[in-house]
Formats: sequence, C-alpha cells, structure tokens
Amino acid sequence: MFSSTTSSGFEMRLGEIIRTRKPHPCGSDRWEIVRIGADIKIRCLACGRVVMLTPDELKKRMKSSGKEN
Ligand SMILES: [Zn+2]
Repeated sequence: MFSSTTSSGFEMRLGEIIRTRKPHPCGSDRWEIVRIGADIKIRCLACGRVVMLTPDELKKRMKSSGKEN
C-alpha cells in the first residue's frame, strides 16, 4: 500500500481513517485519506466532502497525532 512519511516523521497511508480535533460542520470527525502527494486529500466519511491540506496542516488537525511539535 502506498504510504508516505514527511520530514517531521508523520506517517500516513492511503485509505487510512483518521479523526480531526474539530469535527466537520456536518458533525463527523472521521476522514479517509484519498490522496497522498505534495498535498494530502481527505474525504469526510459522513458527507463526502474532500479537503486538500499540506501534510503539516493535516498533522495539526489530527487527533493524537503523536508528539507535539
Ligand atoms: Zn462532512
């Protein structure tokens, strides 16, 4: 499976389900990683909305993303 690790050591896998600190306006905090590249695309599992983020932004938004900084 395609995976990527950023310079900060943050690893993510395509198809992985993640949770964000702040829920989407639709009420869900669960997202599926649908694209990994220079940018990361995640899709809201509840409403299907796709959001594009940099790996760094995604790391900040995720719950329990590991070490601070
Ligand atoms: Zn949503």
